Amino acid sequence: MGLFSDVGRTVEKTKRAFTDNKRAEYVCLDCEESLDENYEYCPRCGEDSVEPAA
Ligand SMILES: [Zn+2]
Repeated sequence: MGLFSDVGRTVEKTKRAFTDNKRAEYVCLDCEESLDENYEYCPRCGEDSVEPAA
């Protein structure tokens, strides 16, 4: 079972590092740009793929 807990820990660490680093409230699902506002259209790629960050 050691393998599974190792994978889980790595994922958790990566997720935390991402949120700590960016502090974005919203993210474009298309180009993964981090945004601090809920833009209707992504200012980077122009897609209407901006969603609240998890
Ligand atoms: Zn985008």
